[in-house]
Amino acid sequence: MSDTPVVRIDGERLLASLRALGQVGALDGGGVCRLAFSDADRLGREWTVARMRELGLRVQVDAIGNVVALYEGRESLPPVMIGSHIDTVRTGGLYDGNYGVLAGLEVVAALREAGLRTRRPLAVAFFSNEEGARFQPDMMGSLVYVGGLPLQQALATRGIDGSTVGDELDRIGWRGDAPVGAPQVDSYVELHIEQGPVLDRLGVQIGVVEGVQGISWSEYTVTGVSNHAGTTPMAMRHDAGLVAARATVFARELATRLGGAQLATVGALALTPNLVNVIPNRAVFTVDLRHTDAATLAQAEREFEAFVQAAAEAEGARCERRSLARFDPVHFDPRVVDRIEQEARALALSHRRMPSGAGHDAQMLARVCPAGMIFVPSVGGLSHNVREHTEPADLVQGAQLLLQVVRRLADRP
Ligand SMILES: [Zn+2]
Repeated sequence: MSDTPVVRIDGERLLASLRALGQVGALDGGGVCRLAFSDADRLGREWTVARMRELGLRVQVDAIGNVVALYEGRESLPPVMIGSHIDTVRTGGLYDGNYGVLAGLEVVAALREAGLRTRRPLAVAFFSNEEGARFQPDMMGSLVYVGGLPLQQALATRGIDGSTVGDELDRIGWRGDAPVGAPQVDSYVELHIEQGPVLDRLGVQIGVVEGVQGISWSEYTVTGVSNHAGTTPMAMRHDAGLVAARATVFARELATRLGGAQLATVGALALTPNLVNVIPNRAVFTVDLRHTDAATLAQAEREFEAFVQAAAEAEGARCERRSLARFDPVHFDPRVVDRIEQEARALALSHRRMPSGAGHDAQMLARVCPAGMIFVPSVGGLSHNVREHTEPADLVQGAQLLLQVVRRLADRP
């Protein structure tokens, strides 16, 4: 940034704002609970929008409750958007989502205090119901924003407590009238805690996120025959539990064989009748497969299914598969990724290219504009946990990097 004055993030104010928003919906003993469209979410929205208005931003709310605050540019062009979310899981921390939004507001505050406007406008957005902890799917607001889910279908979504998104939005007073998907966005940058252990473990300050790994969730139901554990010879059994156990071991072997980026987890397993002296006649289990490469992910799915089918057949059992969720990997725009890397280098921050293990609003925005993400370390890799923590210095550095990146993007010819 040799040609333009250096603008510094006010680190203390950023940290204070994170603590202040963390008081809204605070849990006893730390952490926060602001489930989407709850009363706590309403209060969090009010707090954040008050801060947006203090900064003189033009705030608009769309029909799914997404909030976009605009800082005018020197020219009337599509804005560079900084976004994330402020809803949390039931036992959330102070940083997941909130950090990206509040850092975005500090970027604007710093530019404003320096009397600077970028060529393109800047937008700071928070998207509704990113977590999906109360209403599924997750990333709902950003998915609707980019046209990936019809608004009416999203509004009709029924949550874990029986209420609908539309009714809850009306109840808390956050169903807005701005057109969904407006404004059209020039490019999108999301700053987020890693929510995993990699940066912390390696002692690296910045994750330059290249994409979001693809995800495949399946549920398998294996049906065998229940029988007496004492009287049924081993060779005459049709043990559904054995098939599930073999599948669990195979998942680990498959991931090891396919290498680094392949992940495989059998996370849920229920045996019936689940008794000490009865051979299980039924096993229902899930497998979560993830990879950054679409072809390898598809190969893992095929191999896993073929293995379970063969293992069931060998045991004289039947097997059915049901898909629970399926997203292809997302690759962020190389120009945005390179820009993040260059600016990290310019700030002398140690950095590393990496995929995101978790889903983020950025992957939805990537459908409609060049998008990218910046990660900062999560201490111990903990997230979706009240003990979620990122060191203050890392939080401030990440926000400074965000400022450099969006300023470059917004000022480019
Ligand atoms: Zn998040």
